[in-house]
Amino acid sequence: MNTVEQELQKLRDELNAYNYSYYVLDQKEISDYDFDLKLKTLQELELKHPEYFDPNSPTQRVGGEVTKNFDTIVHEHRMYSLDNSYSKEDLQDWEARVKKMVDGAIQYTCELKYDGASISLTYENGMLVKAVTRGDGFQGDDVTANIKTIKSVPLKLTGDYPPKFDIRGEIVLPFEGFIKMNEERVEIGEEPYRNPRNTASGSLKLQDSAEVAKRPLECLLYNITGSKLNIETQMQSLEKARAWGFKVPDAAKLAHSIDEVLEFVNYWDEHRHNLPYETDGVVVKVNNLQHQEELGYTAKAPRWAMAYKFKAEQVSTKLNSISYQVGRTGAITPVANLEPVELAGTRVKRASLHNADQIEKLDIRVGDEVYVEKGGEIIPKILGVDLTKRPLDSEPTIYITHCPECDTELIRQEGEAQHYCPNYNGCKPQVIGRIQHYISRKAMDIDGLGGETVALLVNEGLISNYADLYELTKEQVIPLERMAEKSAAKLVEGIEQSKNIPFERVLFALGIRYVGETVAKKLAKHYKNIDAIIEASQEELVAVDEIGIKIAESVCLFFASEENIETINRLKAFGVQLQMSEAQLEGQTELLQGDIIVVTGVFEQVSRNELKKLIEDNGGKVSSSISSKTSYIVAGANMGPSKKDKAEKLGVEILSEEEFLRKINF
Ligand code: AMP
Ligand code: ZN
Repeated sequence: MNTVEQELQKLRDELNAYNYSYYVLDQKEISDYDFDLKLKTLQELELKHPEYFDPNSPTQRVGGEVTKNFDTIVHEHRMYSLDNSYSKEDLQDWEARVKKMVDGAIQYTCELKYDGASISLTYENGMLVKAVTRGDGFQGDDVTANIKTIKSVPLKLTGDYPPKFDIRGEIVLPFEGFIKMNEERVEIGEEPYRNPRNTASGSLKLQDSAEVAKRPLECLLYNITGSKLNIETQMQSLEKARAWGFKVPDAAKLAHSIDEVLEFVNYWDEHRHNLPYETDGVVVKVNNLQHQEELGYTAKAPRWAMAYKFKAEQVSTKLNSISYQVGRTGAITPVANLEPVELAGTRVKRASLHNADQIEKLDIRVGDEVYVEKGGEIIPKILGVDLTKRPLDSEPTIYITHCPECDTELIRQEGEAQHYCPNYNGCKPQVIGRIQHYISRKAMDIDGLGGETVALLVNEGLISNYADLYELTKEQVIPLERMAEKSAAKLVEGIEQSKNIPFERVLFALGIRYVGETVAKKLAKHYKNIDAIIEASQEELVAVDEIGIKIAESVCLFFASEENIETINRLKAFGVQLQMSEAQLEGQTELLQGDIIVVTGVFEQVSRNELKKLIEDNGGKVSSSISSKTSYIVAGANMGPSKKDKAEKLGVEILSEEEFLRKINF
């Protein structure tokens, strides 16, 4: 191996190890910043030396490969389904069948049944070569490019793995990531995803693997198949998989009787709500693989395994009424108001009805006794109606035709499930929601003004769009509920301060449908000012990196409205940033905001004075002496030994000239 190859190898191994600690062991061993630096170094080195391409390099995890049609792959070992059981008797019957076919004492492994999308991974010589969905069990889709982006899937194994094997598992989306994804979707006016499982399985079929890389998916493994594996029990195979670098949850337990199995079931039935992801039962497997072989398979499922489904947490209660909520984008959401009832440890009073189609499909009527379930969804949902209890005088639900807030006739665009109120400027919840979005933390971040005050200001007729904020006076605000001289002054001052918020955030704050933070940044960077965006045609917008047709249409629609243009002209007149500032255009940034930096040594690419200017231009502070307040040191050649000592003693990080320049994208 020459030195380039060695360096590539070293970086790849290092990054793989960091990924493993973080995503499999949940241990952070390197800062995000340092990780990104190493990854960038590797990317650059790989770019320079394409002859050493490695499909399993950590750089491949960021995705980018686009698959139009997934190849069909025949599973070398079929992916079976599982038989289900629901009671102690079911399990005892199964045990009796097992005991007829094998001799001696039987032990069982109890594992949690993860609710996601099943996947089969093939490894050869320790390298991931294929990832295939279950499909119909005989053949599935090749989704390798997408799976590689999941950081807990090892691309390269460690330890004494067999030369070739398949390993099966479940791709899941933990609740936390799911909720965050939905918050981001709602923020840009998209409908939230319904549940983590469907979102996980939908993710595997995305055409753009870079999109998959952004989703916080995880891969949990539970089964190794292949020949000459040198494994004797299921428990052992879980341990081995863990040792080779796979993420194997540690809930698995050995049971010596069905009673012990039931103990496991009962424990997790109660505690599973604390797990980071969705489970829907327990999988019980005969532990001894020799026994498994003797038992074999039915047409559908192994005889040596049995799923035990947790009882879905379901109750029935009366539907008292249906109300309709209007969101910031005008989307109408029907909500079921229920007779309060206990469900999965919480008191439930409301459930989502999603949209008109859902109500019609289930024929849900006010006065009905409805079944409510809390499954993977965060908000409980209505599964159906107990028709035996339907009152004789019940009438089918007629979906509203007019906005409950402003009485405007609702519209429903082709292909969309949701009804919308088109009264953009006159419908109160839309007006209030839009201003609330404008002032929110990620947008204009207006100090001293909260969502409730916005509603109050609108209801009092003091404002009706976000431009009106800039004309508010202290005298107008003081008489409002819970306002006083001081809070009113703070509010007006906060609004004034928002005139310093940079253009990209103003663009996000405008609340254009589908324009989230990232898209706003892209557009701001590309067009530099609002007028250029207003003038851009749909075709031009689509040509901008990462801007799709849906976003382009929405942007054009927004600026086609004369009222919006007028609002923007007013914002401009008030001095709100509707263009990139000189500083931004000249390369000044806030990349080093809050950093206190010590510069020492001799530099190659820039002079020491240039370096200091760069620090200040990017929002950092230059300090002459090292202390515990120092964020880090930028060291050129010949750093003095006493400075080095001091830095080490205080644990202050030292960056090379190159590392630092990369940090500010120099
Ligand atoms: P079902 O889809 O209800 O027939 O259940 C079978 C599926 O359960 C398998 O295809 C796996 O994807 C999934 N599963 C989840 N957790 C486990 C586990 N610990 N052991 C085996 N299968 C599991
Ligand atoms: Zn309305």
